[in-house]
Amino acid sequence: TINGSREPDTPRDKLIGGLLTADFDESSCLSRYHQSLFYRKPSPYKPSEYLVSKLRRYEILHKRCGPDTKAYKEATKNLGNDEIYVGDCRYIVWLAGYGLGNRMLTIASVFLYALLTERIILVDNRKDVSDLFCEPFPGTSWLLPLDFPLMNYTYRYNKEYSRCYGTMLSNNAINSTSVLPHLYLHILHDSRDHDKMFFCQNDQSLIDKVPWLIVKANVYFAPSLWLNQDFQTELVKLFPQKETVFHHLARYLFHPTNQVWAMVTSYYNAHLSRADERLGIQIRVFRNDAGYFQHIMDQVVSCTQREKLLPELTTQEESKVNISISPKLEAVLVVSLYPEYSERLKNMFWRQKTSTRETIKVYQPSGERVQQTDKKLHDQKALAEMYLLSLTDNIVTSARSTFGYVSYSLGGLKPWLLYQPTDLITPDPPCVRSTSMEPCFLTPPSHGCDADWGTNSGKIVPFVRHCEDIMYGGLKLY
Ligand code: GDP
Repeated sequence: TINGSREPDTPRDKLIGGLLTADFDESSCLSRYHQSLFYRKPSPYKPSEYLVSKLRRYEILHKRCGPDTKAYKEATKNLGNDEIYVGDCRYIVWLAGYGLGNRMLTIASVFLYALLTERIILVDNRKDVSDLFCEPFPGTSWLLPLDFPLMNYTYRYNKEYSRCYGTMLSNNAINSTSVLPHLYLHILHDSRDHDKMFFCQNDQSLIDKVPWLIVKANVYFAPSLWLNQDFQTELVKLFPQKETVFHHLARYLFHPTNQVWAMVTSYYNAHLSRADERLGIQIRVFRNDAGYFQHIMDQVVSCTQREKLLPELTTQEESKVNISISPKLEAVLVVSLYPEYSERLKNMFWRQKTSTRETIKVYQPSGERVQQTDKKLHDQKALAEMYLLSLTDNIVTSARSTFGYVSYSLGGLKPWLLYQPTDLITPDPPCVRSTSMEPCFLTPPSHGCDADWGTNSGKIVPFVRHCEDIMYGGLKLY
Protein backbone atom coordinates (compact mmCIF):
# COMPACT_ATOMS: atom_id res chain seq x y z
CA THR A 1 0.00 0.00 0.00
CA ILE A 2 1.11 3.58 -0.51
CA ASN A 3 2.99 4.74 2.59
CA GLY A 4 2.17 1.49 4.29
CA SER A 5 -1.57 1.88 4.65
CA ARG A 6 -4.58 2.64 2.57
CA GLU A 7 -6.49 5.69 3.70
CA PRO A 8 -10.05 4.50 4.24
CA ASP A 9 -11.62 7.91 3.68
CA THR A 10 -10.18 8.49 0.21
CA PRO A 11 -12.36 6.53 -2.16
CA ARG A 12 -10.12 5.15 -4.86
CA ASP A 13 -11.38 4.49 -8.29
CA LYS A 14 -10.57 0.90 -9.07
CA LEU A 15 -11.86 1.12 -12.63
CA ILE A 16 -9.73 4.21 -13.38
CA GLY A 17 -12.58 6.46 -14.48
CA GLY A 18 -14.24 3.65 -16.43
CA LEU A 19 -11.12 2.75 -18.38
CA LEU A 20 -11.39 -0.79 -17.01
CA THR A 21 -14.41 -3.03 -17.23
CA ALA A 22 -15.77 -4.52 -14.02
CA ASP A 23 -16.43 -7.82 -15.80
CA PHE A 24 -13.34 -9.67 -14.62
CA ASP A 25 -12.81 -12.01 -11.73
CA GLU A 26 -10.43 -10.19 -9.41
CA SER A 27 -8.31 -13.09 -8.13
CA SER A 28 -7.22 -14.39 -11.52
CA CYS A 29 -5.39 -11.13 -12.13
CA LEU A 30 -4.77 -9.16 -8.95
CA SER A 31 -2.90 -6.32 -10.64
CA ARG A 32 -5.90 -5.29 -12.74
CA TYR A 33 -7.84 -3.68 -9.91
CA HIS A 34 -5.26 -3.58 -7.12
CA GLN A 35 -2.89 -1.28 -8.95
CA SER A 36 -5.17 1.70 -8.80
CA LEU A 37 -6.63 0.76 -5.43
CA PHE A 38 -3.43 0.26 -3.48
CA TYR A 39 -0.32 1.25 -5.39
CA ARG A 40 -0.88 4.08 -7.79
CA LYS A 41 -1.61 7.64 -6.93
CA PRO A 42 -4.75 8.67 -8.82
CA SER A 43 -3.66 9.82 -12.25
CA PRO A 44 -4.41 13.47 -12.99
CA TYR A 45 -5.33 12.34 -16.51
CA LYS A 46 -8.88 11.05 -16.85
CA PRO A 47 -9.97 8.97 -19.84
CA SER A 48 -12.63 10.66 -21.98
CA GLU A 49 -16.20 9.34 -21.95
CA TYR A 50 -15.76 8.70 -25.63
CA LEU A 51 -12.72 6.46 -25.08
CA VAL A 52 -14.56 4.58 -22.35
CA SER A 53 -17.54 3.87 -24.58
CA LYS A 54 -15.31 2.95 -27.52
CA LEU A 55 -13.50 0.40 -25.34
CA ARG A 56 -16.79 -1.14 -24.20
CA ARG A 57 -17.90 -1.44 -27.83
CA TYR A 58 -14.55 -2.95 -28.76
CA GLU A 59 -14.92 -5.57 -26.03
CA ILE A 60 -18.28 -6.64 -27.49
CA LEU A 61 -16.78 -6.88 -30.96
CA HIS A 62 -13.82 -8.90 -29.73
CA LYS A 63 -16.12 -11.32 -27.98
CA ARG A 64 -18.11 -11.77 -31.18
CA CYS A 65 -15.11 -12.22 -33.50
CA GLY A 66 -12.38 -13.58 -31.22
CA PRO A 67 -10.90 -17.09 -31.13
CA ASP A 68 -13.36 -19.92 -30.58
CA THR A 69 -16.21 -18.08 -32.26
CA LYS A 70 -18.11 -19.04 -35.38
CA ALA A 71 -16.90 -15.84 -36.99
CA TYR A 72 -13.24 -16.65 -36.33
CA LYS A 73 -13.65 -20.18 -37.74
CA GLU A 74 -15.25 -18.78 -40.86
CA ALA A 75 -12.58 -16.13 -41.23
CA THR A 76 -9.72 -18.63 -41.02
CA LYS A 77 -11.29 -21.57 -42.88
CA ASN A 78 -9.80 -20.98 -46.30
CA LEU A 79 -7.11 -18.49 -45.39
CA GLY A 80 -4.38 -21.07 -45.99
CA ASN A 81 -5.60 -21.46 -49.59
CA ASP A 82 -5.53 -17.71 -50.05
CA GLU A 83 -9.28 -17.55 -50.52
CA ILE A 84 -11.09 -14.35 -49.77
CA TYR A 85 -13.39 -14.29 -46.77
CA VAL A 86 -16.36 -11.95 -46.72
CA GLY A 87 -17.69 -11.95 -43.17
CA ASP A 88 -17.95 -8.78 -41.13
CA CYS A 89 -15.07 -9.44 -38.73
CA ARG A 90 -11.70 -8.06 -39.72
CA TYR A 91 -8.45 -8.79 -37.88
CA ILE A 92 -4.98 -7.50 -37.23
CA VAL A 93 -2.33 -9.92 -36.04
CA TRP A 94 0.61 -8.65 -33.99
CA LEU A 95 3.84 -10.63 -34.36
CA ALA A 96 6.28 -10.72 -31.44
CA GLY A 97 9.78 -9.42 -31.92
CA TYR A 98 12.48 -7.36 -30.18
CA GLY A 99 12.60 -6.43 -26.49
CA LEU A 100 9.68 -6.12 -24.11
CA GLY A 101 9.52 -2.32 -24.30
CA ASN A 102 9.26 -2.50 -28.08
CA ARG A 103 6.57 -5.14 -27.78
CA MET A 104 4.42 -3.15 -25.41
CA LEU A 105 4.68 -0.01 -27.53
CA THR A 106 3.76 -1.87 -30.70
CA ILE A 107 0.86 -3.79 -29.14
CA ALA A 108 -0.55 -0.45 -27.99
CA SER A 109 -0.08 1.09 -31.45
CA VAL A 110 -1.70 -1.90 -33.17
CA PHE A 111 -4.57 -1.82 -30.69
CA LEU A 112 -5.14 1.88 -31.34
CA TYR A 113 -5.22 1.19 -35.07
CA ALA A 114 -7.66 -1.67 -34.42
CA LEU A 115 -9.92 0.69 -32.43
CA LEU A 116 -9.88 3.24 -35.23
CA THR A 117 -10.59 0.73 -37.97
CA GLU A 118 -12.89 -1.64 -36.09
CA ARG A 119 -10.58 -4.60 -36.36
CA ILE A 120 -9.84 -7.30 -33.80
CA ILE A 121 -6.32 -7.46 -32.41
CA LEU A 122 -4.81 -10.91 -31.91
CA VAL A 123 -1.36 -11.31 -30.40
CA ASP A 124 1.24 -13.88 -31.29
CA ASN A 125 1.52 -16.24 -28.34
CA ARG A 126 4.42 -18.42 -29.43
CA LYS A 127 6.62 -16.52 -26.98
CA ASP A 128 5.79 -15.63 -23.39
CA VAL A 129 3.01 -13.04 -23.67
CA SER A 130 0.68 -15.06 -21.45
CA ASP A 131 3.35 -15.42 -18.73
CA LEU A 132 3.57 -11.66 -18.60
CA PHE A 133 0.09 -10.25 -19.13
CA CYS A 134 -3.45 -11.14 -18.16
CA GLU A 135 -6.18 -11.15 -20.76
CA PRO A 136 -7.35 -7.57 -21.35
CA PHE A 137 -10.77 -8.25 -22.88
CA PRO A 138 -13.48 -10.01 -20.81
CA GLY A 139 -15.04 -13.32 -21.84
CA THR A 140 -12.68 -13.94 -24.75
CA SER A 141 -8.97 -14.10 -25.56
CA TRP A 142 -6.51 -11.83 -27.31
CA LEU A 143 -4.09 -14.69 -27.95
CA LEU A 144 -3.82 -15.83 -31.54
CA PRO A 145 -4.58 -19.57 -31.64
CA LEU A 146 -1.42 -21.55 -32.29
CA ASP A 147 -3.00 -23.26 -35.30
CA PHE A 148 -3.65 -19.96 -37.09
CA PRO A 149 -3.12 -20.91 -40.76
CA LEU A 150 -0.71 -18.11 -41.68
CA MET A 151 1.59 -18.83 -38.75
CA ASN A 152 3.35 -21.64 -40.61
CA TYR A 153 5.00 -19.02 -42.72
CA THR A 154 6.28 -16.49 -40.22
CA TYR A 155 9.75 -16.62 -41.80
CA ARG A 156 8.34 -14.93 -44.86
CA TYR A 157 7.11 -11.82 -43.07
CA ASN A 158 9.74 -9.38 -44.24
CA LYS A 159 10.18 -6.68 -46.86
CA GLU A 160 10.79 -9.25 -49.60
CA TYR A 161 7.41 -10.94 -49.11
CA SER A 162 5.15 -10.40 -52.13
CA ARG A 163 2.22 -9.49 -49.83
CA CYS A 164 4.25 -6.87 -47.98
CA TYR A 165 2.25 -3.68 -48.46
CA GLY A 166 5.24 -1.37 -48.97
CA THR A 167 6.76 -3.77 -51.49
CA MET A 168 3.51 -4.06 -53.42
CA LEU A 169 3.23 -0.31 -53.47
CA SER A 170 6.74 0.25 -54.76
CA ASN A 171 6.25 -2.45 -57.41
CA ASN A 172 2.95 -0.89 -58.50
CA ALA A 173 1.36 -4.24 -57.72
CA ILE A 174 -1.68 -2.70 -56.05
CA ASN A 175 -4.87 -2.62 -58.00
CA SER A 176 -7.54 -0.51 -56.35
CA THR A 177 -10.33 -2.86 -57.41
CA SER A 178 -8.76 -6.11 -56.25
CA VAL A 179 -9.30 -7.38 -52.71
CA LEU A 180 -6.62 -9.42 -51.01
CA PRO A 181 -7.19 -12.11 -48.37
CA HIS A 182 -4.28 -10.84 -46.30
CA LEU A 183 -1.54 -8.22 -46.26
CA TYR A 184 1.67 -7.89 -44.31
CA LEU A 185 2.65 -4.51 -42.79
CA HIS A 186 6.33 -3.97 -42.05
CA ILE A 187 6.71 -1.22 -39.42
CA LEU A 188 10.26 -1.62 -38.24
CA HIS A 189 13.29 0.63 -37.90
CA ASP A 190 14.30 -0.40 -41.44
CA SER A 191 10.92 0.34 -43.05
CA ARG A 192 10.82 2.35 -46.23
CA ASP A 193 8.51 5.33 -46.59
CA HIS A 194 6.17 3.08 -48.58
CA ASP A 195 5.82 0.82 -45.53
CA LYS A 196 5.43 3.69 -43.09
CA MET A 197 2.64 5.41 -45.02
CA PHE A 198 0.14 2.55 -44.71
CA PHE A 199 -2.05 4.69 -42.42
CA CYS A 200 -2.63 7.49 -44.95
CA GLN A 201 -6.15 8.04 -46.27
CA ASN A 202 -5.47 6.82 -49.81
CA ASP A 203 -3.73 3.70 -48.61
CA GLN A 204 -6.42 2.99 -46.05
CA SER A 205 -9.17 2.90 -48.67
CA LEU A 206 -7.60 -0.31 -49.99
CA ILE A 207 -6.17 -1.76 -46.78
CA ASP A 208 -9.50 -1.36 -45.01
CA LYS A 209 -11.04 -4.04 -47.25
CA VAL A 210 -8.42 -6.66 -46.44
CA PRO A 211 -9.80 -9.01 -43.76
CA TRP A 212 -6.43 -10.07 -42.32
CA LEU A 213 -3.51 -7.79 -41.60
CA ILE A 214 -0.30 -9.20 -40.19
CA VAL A 215 2.02 -6.67 -38.56
CA LYS A 216 5.61 -6.90 -37.52
CA ALA A 217 6.63 -3.73 -35.73
CA ASN A 218 9.22 -2.49 -33.28
CA VAL A 219 8.39 1.19 -33.14
CA TYR A 220 5.62 3.19 -31.45
CA PHE A 221 3.76 4.29 -34.56
CA ALA A 222 0.69 5.74 -32.81
CA PRO A 223 1.78 9.39 -33.36
CA SER A 224 1.72 8.93 -37.14
CA LEU A 225 -1.94 7.90 -37.12
CA TRP A 226 -2.77 11.51 -36.21
CA LEU A 227 -1.48 12.61 -39.60
CA ASN A 228 -4.47 10.96 -41.30
CA GLN A 229 -7.33 13.51 -41.24
CA ASP A 230 -10.04 10.87 -40.84
CA PHE A 231 -8.30 9.23 -37.91
CA GLN A 232 -7.43 12.60 -36.41
CA THR A 233 -11.08 13.60 -36.05
CA GLU A 234 -11.74 10.42 -34.09
CA LEU A 235 -8.47 10.56 -32.14
CA VAL A 236 -9.16 14.06 -30.86
CA LYS A 237 -12.44 12.81 -29.41
CA LEU A 238 -10.81 9.72 -27.91
CA PHE A 239 -7.84 11.60 -26.49
CA PRO A 240 -8.62 15.29 -25.93
CA GLN A 241 -5.39 15.33 -23.89
CA LYS A 242 -3.14 14.20 -26.70
CA GLU A 243 -0.16 13.11 -24.65
CA THR A 244 -2.24 10.52 -22.78
CA VAL A 245 -2.52 7.92 -25.55
CA PHE A 246 -0.05 5.36 -24.22
CA HIS A 247 -0.80 6.24 -20.59
CA HIS A 248 -4.45 5.22 -21.01
CA LEU A 249 -3.96 2.35 -23.46
CA ALA A 250 -1.19 0.78 -21.38
CA ARG A 251 -3.25 0.92 -18.19
CA TYR A 252 -6.13 -0.63 -20.12
CA LEU A 253 -4.16 -3.39 -21.88
CA PHE A 254 -1.24 -4.41 -19.71
CA HIS A 255 -2.01 -6.13 -16.44
CA PRO A 256 0.92 -8.15 -15.12
CA THR A 257 0.10 -11.75 -14.26
CA ASN A 258 -0.09 -12.72 -10.58
CA GLN A 259 3.49 -14.04 -10.72
CA VAL A 260 4.85 -10.73 -11.99
CA TRP A 261 2.61 -8.71 -9.73
CA ALA A 262 3.96 -10.59 -6.70
CA MET A 263 7.44 -9.48 -7.74
CA VAL A 264 6.30 -5.86 -8.02
CA THR A 265 4.39 -5.69 -4.78
CA SER A 266 6.89 -7.55 -2.59
CA TYR A 267 9.71 -5.32 -3.81
CA TYR A 268 7.63 -2.19 -3.44
CA ASN A 269 6.51 -3.05 0.08
CA ALA A 270 10.00 -4.02 1.17
CA HIS A 271 11.88 -1.01 -0.16
CA LEU A 272 9.76 1.79 -1.54
CA SER A 273 6.53 2.07 0.40
CA ARG A 274 7.91 3.83 3.47
CA ALA A 275 9.85 6.51 1.61
CA ASP A 276 8.66 10.12 1.60
CA GLU A 277 9.70 10.39 -2.02
CA ARG A 278 10.70 7.92 -4.71
CA LEU A 279 13.06 8.62 -7.57
CA GLY A 280 13.36 6.16 -10.47
CA ILE A 281 16.52 6.06 -12.59
CA GLN A 282 16.69 3.81 -15.65
CA ILE A 283 20.12 3.38 -17.19
CA ARG A 284 20.24 1.76 -20.63
CA VAL A 285 23.60 1.59 -22.36
CA PHE A 286 23.40 1.37 -26.15
CA ARG A 287 26.93 0.23 -27.01
CA ASN A 288 28.42 -2.99 -28.32
CA ASP A 289 30.65 -3.11 -25.24
CA ALA A 290 27.78 -2.14 -22.90
CA GLY A 291 28.39 -2.23 -19.16
CA TYR A 292 29.54 0.20 -16.50
CA PHE A 293 30.98 3.49 -17.79
CA GLN A 294 32.24 6.38 -15.72
CA HIS A 295 30.95 8.99 -18.15
CA ILE A 296 27.43 7.58 -17.82
CA MET A 297 27.68 7.49 -14.02
CA ASP A 298 28.85 11.13 -14.10
CA GLN A 299 25.93 11.97 -16.36
CA VAL A 300 23.41 10.44 -13.95
CA VAL A 301 24.90 12.30 -10.97
CA SER A 302 25.12 15.55 -12.88
CA CYS A 303 21.54 15.33 -14.15
CA THR A 304 19.98 14.41 -10.81
CA GLN A 305 21.87 17.13 -8.91
CA ARG A 306 21.33 19.86 -11.48
CA GLU A 307 17.63 19.10 -11.58
CA LYS A 308 17.49 18.89 -7.77
CA LEU A 309 16.27 15.32 -7.86
CA LEU A 310 19.05 14.28 -5.50
CA PRO A 311 20.76 16.50 -2.93
CA GLU A 312 24.37 17.60 -3.17
CA LEU A 313 26.90 15.92 -0.92
CA THR A 314 28.59 17.96 1.73
CA THR A 315 31.47 17.71 4.21
CA GLN A 316 30.82 16.81 7.87
CA GLU A 317 31.59 20.42 8.92
CA GLU A 318 28.93 21.98 6.72
CA SER A 319 26.31 19.45 7.65
CA LYS A 320 26.53 20.34 11.33
CA VAL A 321 25.42 23.86 10.54
CA ASN A 322 22.56 22.70 8.44
CA ILE A 323 19.89 21.60 10.85
CA SER A 324 16.74 20.24 9.37
CA ILE A 325 13.64 19.43 11.39
CA SER A 326 12.91 15.89 10.39
CA PRO A 327 15.09 14.26 7.79
CA LYS A 328 13.25 13.11 4.72
CA LEU A 329 13.65 9.57 3.41
CA GLU A 330 14.14 9.35 -0.31
CA ALA A 331 14.22 5.96 -2.03
CA VAL A 332 16.12 5.76 -5.29
CA LEU A 333 15.19 2.88 -7.56
CA VAL A 334 17.92 2.20 -10.09
CA VAL A 335 17.00 -0.07 -12.98
CA SER A 336 19.71 -1.30 -15.31
CA LEU A 337 21.24 -4.44 -16.71
CA TYR A 338 24.42 -3.51 -14.77
CA PRO A 339 24.48 -3.57 -10.95
CA GLU A 340 27.50 -1.23 -10.71
CA TYR A 341 25.44 1.92 -11.20
CA SER A 342 23.43 1.50 -8.03
CA GLU A 343 26.48 0.28 -6.10
CA ARG A 344 28.36 3.50 -6.89
CA LEU A 345 25.38 5.65 -6.04
CA LYS A 346 24.85 3.77 -2.78
CA ASN A 347 28.51 4.28 -1.81
CA MET A 348 28.26 7.95 -2.58
CA PHE A 349 25.42 8.53 -0.14
CA TRP A 350 26.70 6.12 2.44
CA ARG A 351 30.04 7.80 2.89
CA GLN A 352 28.95 11.41 2.84
CA LYS A 353 26.12 13.45 4.29
CA THR A 354 23.71 15.28 2.05
CA SER A 355 23.33 19.05 2.15
CA THR A 356 19.67 18.72 3.11
CA ARG A 357 20.32 15.92 5.62
CA GLU A 358 17.91 13.79 3.68
CA THR A 359 18.43 10.06 3.97
CA ILE A 360 18.94 8.49 0.58
CA LYS A 361 18.44 4.76 0.14
CA VAL A 362 19.43 3.24 -3.17
CA TYR A 363 17.97 0.00 -4.52
CA GLN A 364 18.34 -2.02 -7.70
CA PRO A 365 16.10 -5.08 -8.11
CA SER A 366 18.27 -6.97 -10.62
CA GLY A 367 21.41 -6.79 -12.72
CA GLU A 368 20.86 -9.26 -15.53
CA ARG A 369 23.91 -8.06 -17.52
CA VAL A 370 22.60 -9.32 -20.86
CA GLN A 371 19.28 -9.07 -22.61
CA GLN A 372 17.62 -12.51 -22.73
CA THR A 373 14.30 -11.77 -24.41
CA ASP A 374 11.87 -14.74 -24.49
CA LYS A 375 13.31 -16.30 -21.34
CA LYS A 376 10.32 -16.29 -19.04
CA LEU A 377 11.91 -15.19 -15.76
CA HIS A 378 14.10 -12.59 -17.45
CA ASP A 379 11.12 -11.00 -19.20
CA GLN A 380 9.07 -11.14 -16.01
CA LYS A 381 11.82 -9.27 -14.15
CA ALA A 382 11.93 -6.68 -16.92
CA LEU A 383 8.18 -6.16 -16.71
CA ALA A 384 8.25 -5.98 -12.91
CA GLU A 385 10.94 -3.32 -13.11
CA MET A 386 9.02 -1.24 -15.64
CA TYR A 387 6.06 -1.30 -13.25
CA LEU A 388 8.20 -0.44 -10.22
CA LEU A 389 9.66 2.52 -12.11
CA SER A 390 6.16 3.64 -13.03
CA LEU A 391 5.28 3.81 -9.33
CA THR A 392 7.95 6.40 -8.52
CA ASP A 393 7.31 10.14 -8.12
CA ASN A 394 10.05 11.40 -10.44
CA ILE A 395 11.77 9.52 -13.18
CA VAL A 396 15.01 9.77 -15.12
CA THR A 397 15.30 7.51 -18.18
CA SER A 398 17.78 6.90 -20.96
CA ALA A 399 17.13 8.53 -24.33
CA ARG A 400 15.62 6.32 -27.03
CA SER A 401 14.96 3.38 -24.72
CA THR A 402 11.51 1.87 -25.19
CA PHE A 403 11.91 0.26 -21.74
CA GLY A 404 12.11 3.77 -20.31
CA TYR A 405 9.26 5.03 -22.51
CA VAL A 406 6.89 2.38 -21.18
CA SER A 407 7.86 3.09 -17.56
CA TYR A 408 7.28 6.82 -17.51
CA SER A 409 4.21 6.83 -19.72
CA LEU A 410 2.52 4.09 -17.70
CA GLY A 411 3.20 6.13 -14.58
CA GLY A 412 1.89 9.35 -16.16
CA LEU A 413 5.27 10.97 -15.51
CA LYS A 414 7.11 13.54 -17.59
CA PRO A 415 10.65 12.18 -17.52
CA TRP A 416 14.08 13.68 -17.43
CA LEU A 417 15.72 12.12 -20.47
CA LEU A 418 19.44 11.33 -20.33
CA TYR A 419 20.93 12.24 -23.71
CA GLN A 420 22.69 9.41 -25.46
CA PRO A 421 26.45 10.02 -25.09
CA THR A 422 28.75 9.94 -28.09
CA ASP A 423 32.10 8.28 -27.50
CA LEU A 424 33.07 8.38 -23.83
CA ILE A 425 31.93 11.91 -23.14
CA THR A 426 29.29 13.01 -20.67
CA PRO A 427 26.74 15.07 -22.62
CA ASP A 428 26.35 18.70 -21.60
CA PRO A 429 23.61 19.34 -20.61
CA PRO A 430 23.29 15.78 -19.29
CA CYS A 431 19.52 15.56 -19.60
CA VAL A 432 16.36 17.37 -20.65
CA ARG A 433 12.94 17.45 -18.99
CA SER A 434 10.34 16.20 -21.44
CA THR A 435 7.20 18.25 -21.82
CA SER A 436 5.21 15.17 -22.78
CA MET A 437 4.78 11.75 -21.21
CA GLU A 438 4.27 10.04 -24.57
CA PRO A 439 6.78 7.58 -26.04
CA CYS A 440 8.69 8.65 -29.12
CA PHE A 441 8.14 7.06 -32.56
CA LEU A 442 11.82 6.60 -33.28
CA THR A 443 11.75 6.04 -37.04
CA PRO A 444 8.69 7.84 -38.41
CA PRO A 445 7.91 8.71 -42.02
CA SER A 446 9.93 11.75 -43.03
CA HIS A 447 6.92 13.51 -44.53
CA GLY A 448 3.14 13.59 -44.42
CA CYS A 449 0.39 11.86 -46.42
CA ASP A 450 -1.19 12.80 -49.72
CA ALA A 451 -2.01 16.52 -49.31
CA ASP A 452 0.97 17.00 -46.97
CA TRP A 453 3.35 15.08 -49.18
CA GLY A 454 6.80 16.58 -48.88
CA THR A 455 6.10 18.47 -45.64
CA ASN A 456 8.35 17.53 -42.71
CA SER A 457 6.26 15.09 -40.63
CA GLY A 458 7.07 17.03 -37.42
CA LYS A 459 5.56 20.21 -38.87
CA ILE A 460 2.15 19.08 -40.11
CA VAL A 461 0.08 19.41 -36.95
CA PRO A 462 1.13 21.39 -33.86
CA PHE A 463 0.79 18.48 -31.44
CA VAL A 464 2.90 15.95 -33.38
CA ARG A 465 6.48 17.17 -33.12
CA HIS A 466 10.01 15.88 -33.07
CA CYS A 467 11.19 14.20 -29.87
CA GLU A 468 13.58 15.86 -27.43
CA ASP A 469 15.76 12.83 -26.94
CA ILE A 470 16.91 11.96 -30.43
CA MET A 471 18.89 13.98 -32.92
CA TYR A 472 16.99 13.43 -36.14
CA GLY A 473 13.35 12.78 -36.81
CA GLY A 474 11.40 11.01 -34.13
CA LEU A 475 7.74 11.95 -33.65
CA LYS A 476 5.90 12.42 -30.42
CA LEU A 477 2.50 13.66 -29.29
CA TYR A 478 2.52 16.76 -27.11
P1 GDP B 1 15.11 -0.87 -25.29
O1 GDP B 1 16.03 -1.80 -26.02
O2 GDP B 1 15.79 -0.07 -24.23
O3 GDP B 1 14.34 -0.01 -26.24
O4 GDP B 1 14.04 -1.74 -24.46
P2 GDP B 1 13.40 -3.18 -24.71
O5 GDP B 1 12.62 -3.48 -23.48
O6 GDP B 1 12.68 -3.24 -25.99
O7 GDP B 1 14.62 -4.20 -24.83
C1 GDP B 1 15.59 -4.30 -23.85
C2 GDP B 1 15.48 -5.62 -23.07
O8 GDP B 1 16.71 -5.82 -22.37
C3 GDP B 1 14.41 -5.60 -22.01
O9 GDP B 1 13.16 -5.99 -22.47
C4 GDP B 1 14.99 -6.57 -21.00
O10 GDP B 1 14.84 -7.89 -21.48
C5 GDP B 1 16.46 -6.21 -21.03
N1 GDP B 1 16.73 -5.05 -20.17
C6 GDP B 1 17.23 -3.85 -20.55
N2 GDP B 1 17.35 -3.03 -19.47
C7 GDP B 1 16.90 -3.73 -18.41
C8 GDP B 1 16.78 -3.41 -17.02
O11 GDP B 1 17.08 -2.34 -16.55
N3 GDP B 1 16.26 -4.39 -16.22
C9 GDP B 1 15.91 -5.63 -16.70
N4 GDP B 1 15.42 -6.52 -15.86
N5 GDP B 1 16.02 -5.95 -18.00
C10 GDP B 1 16.51 -5.01 -18.84
